[in-house]
Amino acid sequence: MQGSNTYQILIDPAVSPDSVPRRFQVPAGASLEDVANALDLIFHADSQCDAVLLMAADQMAGVVTRARFRTLVSPSGPHRGERPVGAGDGASLAGPPVDYEVFTYRCQRCGKVVYRMEADVPAPACEESGHGAMDREA
Ligand SMILES: [Zn+2]
Repeated sequence: MQGSNTYQILIDPAVSPDSVPRRFQVPAGASLEDVANALDLIFHADSQCDAVLLMAADQMAGVVTRARFRTLVSPSGPHRGERPVGAGDGASLAGPPVDYEVFTYRCQRCGKVVYRMEADVPAPACEESGHGAMDREA
């Protein structure tokens, strides 16, 4: 059983969860490497996304910022040299790994976003009361 502490290395404790409108819901038991790869995909796919609130099996783990994540993704970071990404210059990033997929859900009323690694679960509901289920983006 892995708790939210599994992802502690990814978390930027200086950022308040309240300031982050995007959540990344991680299934129970996801490895640090899986989560790091998925975060790589998220930051790669959405240039507007500078931080995500990491939720591990419905427990708030904390905020992962793009800037801090980029300092971690190095041969000594979570990828352990398997797929080193150019040392954070932002211009020569390798493509995301092909065997990971991230699903994006957006609230049509307030624009909040939830990312998930699995699609075969009901769409998340917006945390704002009355907004209802979020829509999956293609
Ligand atoms: Zn909403």
